[in-house]
Amino acid sequence: MHVFYSDPFEFPLPPGHTFPLGKYRLLRERVAAWPAATGVQLLLAPRATRDELLLVHTAAYVDAFVGGRLDAQHQARIGLPWSEALVERSLRSCGATLAAARTALAHGVAVYLAGGTHHARADRGAGYCVFNDCAVAARIVQREGGRERVLVVDTDVHQGDGTAAIFAGDPSVFTFSIHGEQNFPAAKAASDLDIALPSGTGDDVYLQRLQQGLDAAFAAGAPQFVFFLSGADPFAGDRLGRLSLSKAGLLARDRRVVAACRAHGVPFVTVMGGGYAREIADTVDVYEATVRCVVDG
Ligand SMILES: [Zn+2]
Repeated sequence: MHVFYSDPFEFPLPPGHTFPLGKYRLLRERVAAWPAATGVQLLLAPRATRDELLLVHTAAYVDAFVGGRLDAQHQARIGLPWSEALVERSLRSCGATLAAARTALAHGVAVYLAGGTHHARADRGAGYCVFNDCAVAARIVQREGGRERVLVVDTDVHQGDGTAAIFAGDPSVFTFSIHGEQNFPAAKAASDLDIALPSGTGDDVYLQRLQQGLDAAFAAGAPQFVFFLSGADPFAGDRLGRLSLSKAGLLARDRRVVAACRAHGVPFVTVMGGGYAREIADTVDVYEATVRCVVDG
């Protein structure tokens, strides 16, 4: 199993910034410590090229971000201060998901230990998301893999508004988002299928709604390739979450998504999405269980 990582490309955050950057290194260290029998091969993320980014993003946005010329308001909407290191990390992060997609085309499955930057739209970033990795990778899968119909299963607690907006009116990519209705972003975009859950939703209701959504999304999208944007932030202990899933519930979620991909015989890529637990180890626990579920599944 090919597992990509980008955590060596750190970027500076001002004192007091709450983005838990360290979770990615902790996750990679945990996966690296798994027994060799798991068959995991850790691979450093390559850079996405400008041409690849332009499959989804506007040249004006890509060039302004890379060149450090976004206006302050736009940079604030992304929520991470601009630096050369942030540019490098953003290119590597998108490139990792592209590499995972190419690997999954060849081998059926791959994982990236970060990614899921689903708030980014064609012409702008937002909510810690610079480039929409799964959206760009969906275009790669269509172009290079000849797999026209793509499904994005987004179970991050925040709606995948950027992905929904990018593929609005494009029947080739089916977007499914199950999220907290009171969560960011306040103004939701319209996915092909949205399941908005009330704050405090727990395991049983969540898993029931998820299964309904998966059945509907696979039936309507008839996918030839799937992106699973998992997200550790539906966890009850998440600072930004508002849902109340347990770790066991999140693992059951992962198993259902992986089982659906397997049952339909489609290659898939798993990326981690958000995770902002009060205890960083909880976020890493959820991520690690997701990766293990894919590796074992
Ligand atoms: Zn999120």
